[in-house]
Amino acid sequence: MDQRKKDRVLVLILCVCLLLAAVAVAALVVVHNAYRARLNEQALQARPGAAANSGMLGGMPAAVVTDEPEEPEEGEFAYCMTAFPVSCYSEADPASPILDAFSFGDRLTVLGTEGDWYRCRLSGGGEGFVLREYFTPRRYEYPLVYVSGARDLRSWIPDAEFDLLFAGPDNIAGHAMYAPIPILEDTTAELLLQAAEAFRLRGYRLKIYDSYRPKRAQFELYDIVHDSRYIANPYVWGSWHNYGRAVDLSLIDLETGEELDMPTPMHTFRTLAARGSRDRWTEEQRANVDMMTEVMRSVGFNTIETEWWHFEYTGEGAMLEDDMVLDSGDYYNP
Ligand SMILES: [Zn+2]
Repeated sequence: MDQRKKDRVLVLILCVCLLLAAVAVAALVVVHNAYRARLNEQALQARPGAAANSGMLGGMPAAVVTDEPEEPEEGEFAYCMTAFPVSCYSEADPASPILDAFSFGDRLTVLGTEGDWYRCRLSGGGEGFVLREYFTPRRYEYPLVYVSGARDLRSWIPDAEFDLLFAGPDNIAGHAMYAPIPILEDTTAELLLQAAEAFRLRGYRLKIYDSYRPKRAQFELYDIVHDSRYIANPYVWGSWHNYGRAVDLSLIDLETGEELDMPTPMHTFRTLAARGSRDRWTEEQRANVDMMTEVMRSVGFNTIETEWWHFEYTGEGAMLEDDMVLDSGDYYNP
C-alpha cells in the first residue's frame, strides 16, 4: 500500500472510532435522562397525600428545629423580643437608674444570669441589667451574617422560627443545598417585619421555610422537578428567592405553640397547594391561608397561584447577588 492509501485507511478508522464514541455518548445520555426521569417520578409520587400539615415532606420527616432556647453563657447573645423599649438598669432592680434601652431585634451581649435578670454589656462599655423575659437566648448552628443590603432574619425577627427545608437533608434533593442562614433584601425584610408585627397582634408568629435561596440550589431543584410552576426556571431568570425578595411562610399560634393547619405540607409540588384548589381545602385551612394572605398583601407582598406559602416583593428595591455562599466566612463579623 502506498502512503496515500495508508493515510486514507487511517482517516477512515479514525472516523469510525469517532462515530462509535458519539453513539456511545448519546446512548449514555438517553439512559441517564430516563433514569433521572424515573427518579423524579418516584420522588413526586412519594409525596404525601391530601393530609393536613403533618410535618412530612416527600415521605420523610421535615427537619427538626434544634435551636431550643438555652441560657446563654458569658459573651453569648440574646435578642430583644418586644415591640416596646426595654430599660436597662444599673442594678437588678427596676428602681435603680436607667442606663440604656433595647428595642425589638436588638442584640444583647449577656455577661451572666442573676435571677430574673441578665447582666449585660452596654453599647458604650460598662454593664447593666435587663429583665430576661423580654429576650430570647437562641443559639444558632451558624453565626449571624452581615450582608450589605440584607438582614439576617434570625436577629431581625427574633421570635420567628426557621426550618429551611432546602438547607437540610430532608427535601426532594436528599441533601442540604446551602447553609441554613435566612436572609432577605432590606426592603423585603422591612415589609416582613411589618407583617410579623401585624401577625403578632392577631396572636401568631412567623415560621419561615425559605428566604434567600442561592442560584445553585435553584438549578439543582429545577433539574429535579422540571416544572416551572413550582421551581422557577433558573436558566431564564430564576425565582425572587434567588435575589432575596421572596419568603415561604407559615404561622405558629402564640398560645398553643402549634403551627396552623394549612392545605398541604410545605413545598408539596401538587395542584392541591394551588390557590385555585381552595374548594378542596377545609374551611379552617381556607381561613388560615386567607388571613396570612391578607396581612402579607397589606404590607406589599405579592402571591403566586401555585403555592399557598410563597410571598414575594416585586416593587422598588435592590436585588441581592444571586449565588452567595453565606457560610463561606466572608459574611461573618462586620
Ligand atoms: Zn417560595
